[in-house]
Amino acid sequence: MKKIVIIGAGPAGLTAAYELLSCGKDYDVTLLEAGSIPGGISATVQCGGCRMDLGGHRLFSKDERIMNWWKSIMPVQSKPACDDKLLCRKKPYACGSADPEKSDSVLLIRDRVSHIYYKNKFYNYPVELSAKMLHDLSLPLTAKVLASYVRCRISKLPETNLENFYINRFGRELYKMFFEGYTQKLWGKHPRDISAQWGAQRVKGLSLTAVMKDTLHKLLGSKKSSNTETSLIEQFWYPKFGSGQLWQTVADKVTAIGGHILYDRKVTGIQTNGGRIVSVSCGSEIFPADECISSMPIKELARAIGAPENIRTITDALPYRDLVIVGLLVKDLRLKNTGKKPSIRNTVPDCWIYVQDKRVKLGRMQVFNNWSPYIVKDPFETLWLGAEYFCSSGDGIAEMTDKQLAGLAAKELRRIGILGSSPVLYYHAERVPKAYPAYFGSYSRFGSVRRYLDSFDNLWCIGRNGQHRYNNMDHSMMTAIETAGAIKSQSRDKTPVWSVNTDKAYHEKK
Ligand SMILES: Cc1cc2nc3c(=O)[nH]c(=O)nc-3n(C[C@H](O)[C@H](O)[C@H](O)COP(=O)(O)OP(=O)(O)OC[C@H]3O[C@@H](n4cnc5c(N)ncnc54)[C@H](O)[C@@H]3O)c2cc1C
Repeated sequence: MKKIVIIGAGPAGLTAAYELLSCGKDYDVTLLEAGSIPGGISATVQCGGCRMDLGGHRLFSKDERIMNWWKSIMPVQSKPACDDKLLCRKKPYACGSADPEKSDSVLLIRDRVSHIYYKNKFYNYPVELSAKMLHDLSLPLTAKVLASYVRCRISKLPETNLENFYINRFGRELYKMFFEGYTQKLWGKHPRDISAQWGAQRVKGLSLTAVMKDTLHKLLGSKKSSNTETSLIEQFWYPKFGSGQLWQTVADKVTAIGGHILYDRKVTGIQTNGGRIVSVSCGSEIFPADECISSMPIKELARAIGAPENIRTITDALPYRDLVIVGLLVKDLRLKNTGKKPSIRNTVPDCWIYVQDKRVKLGRMQVFNNWSPYIVKDPFETLWLGAEYFCSSGDGIAEMTDKQLAGLAAKELRRIGILGSSPVLYYHAERVPKAYPAYFGSYSRFGSVRRYLDSFDNLWCIGRNGQHRYNNMDHSMMTAIETAGAIKSQSRDKTPVWSVNTDKAYHEKK
């Protein structure tokens, strides 16, 4: 029986295992996971009667195959959730018996509500040309925004960096307001020092023109155009108990159909012979492999495999950004709901808020109640917030204790007027190393790394850090599906695996 060793039980590794084991062929599949729970960055932790994603994870893909895959694991809600009932929300409920009040295995349908917090005011995110936005910006600033946009449409800047990429799409004024500071917080670098490639993946076809078209469509009451950009999508699915619930379910299914998931197994060595991987080791434990599928960070993969020096110089210098998320349970927010979407106790209806305020280090804030009331202790009495800090080791944030982090988050939320005098009832901090693979530094020489790794006939690099690419869950899963497909058909062509989230065809599906 073909032995397949998969490194990592995050979305990519679990999808690869499930695809291989559910196809009816005989494979001996072992997943080696460094952590103690499945889901990787998409896991959900349990703490103090609440649950917390490592940054809220919405389930949305432009690729119908992924949406169907998710739906086959957990059904979409067919009846209102407790907060839907209270707020009399109308939703496109599915047929069937997935009632979130009675069953736990349910994907909730959630409204994508999020704002940018800029100069003590809230602007719709994705950027929307609403009357409120024009009012909040004031007439002179709106005129400035439009004039600067027209200017850069007339004379476009060379897209040599992320700053120019944004300016070409939004104009210099809007870029300065909504993108410059946040990008700097996220990457710890100014956008002019970051490759435009990141923007091309994240923002794709979004621009002020797309925003205007979207606004016009809404005003005219027409249906959404089929190529509505990812960032403008207004609803998403979310498992009742957090994104990790989906991956725990997949892990259970993988085990049920014969896969072996071994936790607390950090891969430290990969043995090769004649251009092939022969085994994978975790300390003294050795796992023979006919195929090796890796979702571990490329930087560590190169070390484990004993890559030559010219490759190691690139991989050792690959940049990443870490994430620290601090959960805070509070009674109330100072912010109140001023929009049209109804909310419980009139608190903000947002799932997350981008903080564009140079006075604080806080990058983004989650309101987990709005993701799912079932992940919050007393969801109608308390608010479960997630304060997100992007950091790197040595910058102070990464070194703070949980107590210091909770103190910092509460202080910053008060300083910018989000939190009032409401005390923090409970806190919990999670650290996510290498949360963001970055596109600067030695990344420009990544081509040689890929060629080197591809030279191993039976090594497949999948997922987010596994490819060093800003892949969301759907892209990570697609790299796994392509890999499983290649192994099943005995293909050795890795191009389709690396093409996910680069190739136009993948962007424009659906
Ligand atoms: C703040 C934040 C918010 C996000 N929001 C969304 C969202 O809303 N929607 C969305 O689709 N995506 C979102 N993402 C992206 C999503 O988290 C990733 O796309 C997804 O988790 C990647 O899956 P993966 O399996 O490739 O990698 P990971 O999730 O990183 O999993 C890799 C696994 O490999 C294990 N591993 C690493 N090294 C080793 C080793 N040496 N040995 C053994 N095991 C190892 C890790 O422990 C981990 O479990 C978000 C990411 C972040 C950081």
